[in-house]
Amino acid sequence: MSPAKPIETDVVLIGAGPVGLFAVFELGLLNMRAQVIDILPRAGGQCSELYPEKPIYDIPALPVVSGQELTDRLMQQIAPFKPGLHFNQMVTELQQLDDKRWRVRTDAEQEFVAPVVVIAAGGGSFQPKKPPIPGIERFEGKGVAYAVRRVEALRDREIVISGGGDSALDWVLTLAPLAKRLTLVHRRDAFRAAPDSVTKMRALLEQGKIDFHLGQITELQGKEVLEAVQVKTPDGDTRRIACTDFLPFFGLTMKLGPLADWGIHLHENLIPVNTEDFATDRPGLYAIGDINTYPGKLKLILCGFHESALMAQSAFRLVFPGEKLLFQYTTSSSSLQKKLGVA
Ligand code: FAD
Repeated sequence: MSPAKPIETDVVLIGAGPVGLFAVFELGLLNMRAQVIDILPRAGGQCSELYPEKPIYDIPALPVVSGQELTDRLMQQIAPFKPGLHFNQMVTELQQLDDKRWRVRTDAEQEFVAPVVVIAAGGGSFQPKKPPIPGIERFEGKGVAYAVRRVEALRDREIVISGGGDSALDWVLTLAPLAKRLTLVHRRDAFRAAPDSVTKMRALLEQGKIDFHLGQITELQGKEVLEAVQVKTPDGDTRRIACTDFLPFFGLTMKLGPLADWGIHLHENLIPVNTEDFATDRPGLYAIGDINTYPGKLKLILCGFHESALMAQSAFRLVFPGEKLLFQYTTSSSSLQKKLGVA
């Protein structure tokens, strides 16, 4: 197969997480066309991949919004700018050309050339940590899952959740009302999750609405699909728990992936940027969202949104050298409203 024709554009965005998506909006307001690339088959990054149905409470002016709804709203907000969306493609190469533009290549052999590249790669190709249970892969998609894609699919099921962090306890609280039976397994009777979640989980336990086993899951049993897990207790006994679904929440591994080979200066697997415009130390290369680091950085969506706005102002000067940049409000600028299709 011959490589596809290179796509020339103003800005290439690596990552279609919430921050990459909002960057399309900020760039679009300033007339910059963006092409967005993501390994995942859909937009939303961590929000749609890890917690699509969980509520987020700290997005300004949206008192509560789920990870998926936030993604859907961002997609709606950027639609007027018609970005190129390239899913299921991993960016494998990033090189600066002699004319100072950047060349981006993906594993689908698509090439992009642009004066500005914005890395919005979050935690890189993040993957859930798997518990060390022999043969667990055999049951993946047949009872074992590391994320909940659809809560309804777990109604009336016999669920075992293991882990002691926020994800494990959040899912215990979410799934307890609809599961046929829900059992939490953790190696200690102490939890790293938010105290409020621990209190609520213990209340469910006292009311007999969930079960709890101290120990570690050492074996998965079943012919075609998962039928039971075996728990080894701290005193060395083993116990069999019949179940249809096993959800281990052992955190995420942040795998940087190819980004580590692009010759970019990294600090503890993050890209240092300045806080004026979130540029890296390479001209035309920016990093926004969870992937960047600077004094005081908070890995919050709203911080990534702010970074997008400042990055776009700076990128404008590289994409349109010599052009005057007017600061305008969307409320009152008819030219911005025209771009948004609302004038
Ligand atoms: P991500 O969302 O990580 O998106 C990065 C994207 O880049 C991914 O889709 C990835 O596939 C892609 N990518 C990476 N490398 C490549 C490559 N080489 N080629 C192509 N694509 C690539 N934040 C809040 O503000 N409020 C909350 O309440 C909140 N709750 C959370 C709950 C949980 C359970 C978790 C896990 C996180 C939560 N966060 C919350 C954090 C929030 O989700 C992140 O801050 C946010 O997702 C960062 O957005 P991002 O766009 O920078 O990165």
